[in-house]
Amino acid sequence: MSYILQGETGEWEVVVGLEVHAQVISNAKLFSGSSTEFGAEPNHQVSLVDAAMPGMLPVINEHCVEQAVKTGLGLKAKINLHSVFERKNYFYADLPQGYQISQFLYPIVGEGKVVLDLEGGKSAEIGIERLHMEQDAGKSMHDQDPRRTFIDLNRSGVCLMEIVSKPDIRSPEEAGAYVRKIRTILRYLETCDGNMEQGSMRADVNVSVRHPGEEMRTRAEVKNVNSVRFIMQVIEVEAARQVDVWESGGEVVQETRLFDPNRNETRSMRAKEFAHDYRYFPDPDLLPLDLAPEYVDTIAATLPELPDEKKERFISEFGLGPYDAGVLVGEKRNAEYFERVMQGGPTDKPGGKKGQRDAKAAVNWVTTNLFGALNAAGKDIADSPISADQLGELLDLMADDTISGRIAKDVFDVMFETGRNAGDIVEEKGLKQITDTGAIEAAVDEAIAGNPEQADEVRGGNDKAIGWFVGQVMKATGGKANPQMVNQLLRKKLMG
Ligand code: MN
Repeated sequence: MSYILQGETGEWEVVVGLEVHAQVISNAKLFSGSSTEFGAEPNHQVSLVDAAMPGMLPVINEHCVEQAVKTGLGLKAKINLHSVFERKNYFYADLPQGYQISQFLYPIVGEGKVVLDLEGGKSAEIGIERLHMEQDAGKSMHDQDPRRTFIDLNRSGVCLMEIVSKPDIRSPEEAGAYVRKIRTILRYLETCDGNMEQGSMRADVNVSVRHPGEEMRTRAEVKNVNSVRFIMQVIEVEAARQVDVWESGGEVVQETRLFDPNRNETRSMRAKEFAHDYRYFPDPDLLPLDLAPEYVDTIAATLPELPDEKKERFISEFGLGPYDAGVLVGEKRNAEYFERVMQGGPTDKPGGKKGQRDAKAAVNWVTTNLFGALNAAGKDIADSPISADQLGELLDLMADDTISGRIAKDVFDVMFETGRNAGDIVEEKGLKQITDTGAIEAAVDEAIAGNPEQADEVRGGNDKAIGWFVGQVMKATGGKANPQMVNQLLRKKLMG
């Protein structure tokens, strides 16, 4: 759905295109053998190539090419067998070469698409314009000295994929969903770790506004936005600013702007450069990149099941709703955990598949109980104290009525704290559900005898009072009585 701003001259809609810069997972840089590991001392991962010493020549890292092709395939995009590295010339202190090696006229990946899962089960398709490979620049550090700026070249030469969307995005929500989806796909592919705090993914946000139905107006580009929340915020404040400019008789100029999250505003950084300002030309030190079709096929054969397909499979194989399926596939490890919980276990329930646990129970316990506990403990699923098999055992104990759902919650808490198995905890604490009719009957009789007034109410037809009695019996048995049996016995004795 469009995001509409109400102005004095009518309604305005926002048009957004995103350029996502994603750092390729690779041990070495794009054109040198230096390490790319995060967190090293400044200037400790800089080869002579990265520092642009005279006479140094770039040598392409094949792994980076493979990663870019893999990403293109994951974005359902066209792989261009012929691509060319060009020099994008500009001067900046953290760019020792005086140019960035990038791809311009002939990128390695062409048009593709990404499907967004939006609220209320809606979806939207966003076009990918292209993906090209390029080097990252170094980093200027302005906060180390009161008078000088320091330069750290560790990032210099690291391989980035710039993923350019078509201007198909119409709201902050869509932009957020788009970036999250790209991140999920790249993480499934293991081509980028998607770690936005460490700068592995950041976006340039192109924003313009127009009255619905109008041609596109001039856009402004907000550079280097490094979180999903900020990307969404940028669109809101930049769109509002542009509406103000247009409505007060001014004109939005094509320029590069910076986002200041503290003041929640964007500020002009410099007039926008156009492609011709960069004097692009093919890098004479690098041959065009020509890929054999078989090479691409080999990479295609290594592609994992991607989130959209996994989601479809979870829906058809386990009967999950689109929402639950979407939540689970958002992180590959969550999906794998869930699938492991589904495996095995005796499902005697009607309609249950052999060797497959009850999906509804599994979804609930994974997304509500487990994710809730992990969240509260600040833990990742990889460090979950309860393994998928252990959670599966807990589900089995409920499925065969060894314990009630209420007791299961207590057992779960102990499991989460100690990492012990459900069966052992139930055994040790004597939590087995009472299904012995005699024992339950005794507890029911006692409850009725002790509460004659409430018993009369039930006899008088007050169905709610039955629930109250069930509660009493459950309390008396420490939650161990089988609630269905308690209910049946109460009805038989009181309502005959
Ligand atoms: Mn770029």
